[in-house]
Amino acid sequence: MMPGYSKNEWTKYISTGLSEIEICDVTLRDGEQTPGVAFPKEEKIDIARMLDEVGVEIIEAGFPATSQQEKESVKAVASLGLNAKICCLSRAVKGDIDAVLDCDADMVGLFIGTSDLHMKYKHKKTPDEIIACAIEALEYAKRHGLIVRFSPEDSTRTNLDFLKRFYKAGEEAGADYVSVVDTVGIMTPATMKFMVGEVRSTVGLPICIHCHDDLGMAVANTIAAAEAGAKQLHTTTNGIGERAGNAALEEVLMNLRIQHGIARYDTTKLTELSRMVQRYSGIPVAKNKAIVGEHAFAHESGIHIAALLENDRTYEVFSPEMVGGTREFILGKHSGGKALCYMARQLGYTLSEAETNQVLCEIKRLSECKKSLRREELRDVIEHTLGSSRATEATTP
Ligand code: MN
Repeated sequence: MMPGYSKNEWTKYISTGLSEIEICDVTLRDGEQTPGVAFPKEEKIDIARMLDEVGVEIIEAGFPATSQQEKESVKAVASLGLNAKICCLSRAVKGDIDAVLDCDADMVGLFIGTSDLHMKYKHKKTPDEIIACAIEALEYAKRHGLIVRFSPEDSTRTNLDFLKRFYKAGEEAGADYVSVVDTVGIMTPATMKFMVGEVRSTVGLPICIHCHDDLGMAVANTIAAAEAGAKQLHTTTNGIGERAGNAALEEVLMNLRIQHGIARYDTTKLTELSRMVQRYSGIPVAKNKAIVGEHAFAHESGIHIAALLENDRTYEVFSPEMVGGTREFILGKHSGGKALCYMARQLGYTLSEAETNQVLCEIKRLSECKKSLRREELRDVIEHTLGSSRATEATTP
């Protein structure tokens, strides 16, 4: 069976060209802001190297103003000589930008809250003061040679007219990117498409998109923004991040591959990267997590397995090899004879029809106690079931 994927024919009905997109992975920054997560320097280096192998264009390595240790970690990542550009987060204050400069980063994400809630309760500043503060920081960062992403935090809850004024001011002061930040994850693909269109009609700069998953829409909104013309997509491995997390790197990349044919990222590293981030973050991914979950390529249904044995695209949109995963057949309540024979053959057993039925009965009995079997456990069941039945035959006249 050939590794590959089913092309999504629906995309021919929309005209999009996403070849210009780039990925800014923020696992080492927003991902690290997951409650209870901290990556020591060595772990940041390991993750950064893997992200670079995957081929993301930008790695947001941290928030250097946080601590001396964080600064040293970011500096270590920046000195690895990776292909990816290194970005850091910074508030719109001089001291934070100085910390970024100390790390030899290429790029800075300058952020300041622009929604009424953030301006009033967080910054205690008027809209004019917010713009003045942001522009002063932007000009300082530009004078020191940084590529600047100009980020109105909580953009999606910001008054649209004020937001446009903010973006325009940033463009005039020399920003390199403007960012749409869905800080609390309130967008849908339709509203995101509208918003990116509004930003595009306001400024000529490339647009970054930063989505949170509070309503489970982060990946969908990120892809919608890309389809509407956003350039830089923000992701985290396994979707970790503050609260419900960010758009998951593995899901965004596989959507770009399958929906839009973008093949320049090495997706075969995604499972290994996912495991590494699980280990380092202590945040396990759900078994049914798309792309990298333990069950992403596990099949139990007899009907599905019988079809998969003929052609694996029948019940898999893409093959596990594409993401470094493995297909697994699991025996349980929904199993059929074909799946059992196939798995038994892999263990070296050729079962007769009667034996198949007998073992299948036992598997279904076990599955009533919510137990499903992987291939290695099947050997025990076969030995146990057929062994005892032969013993019965021998004593029956
Ligand atoms: Mn964030």
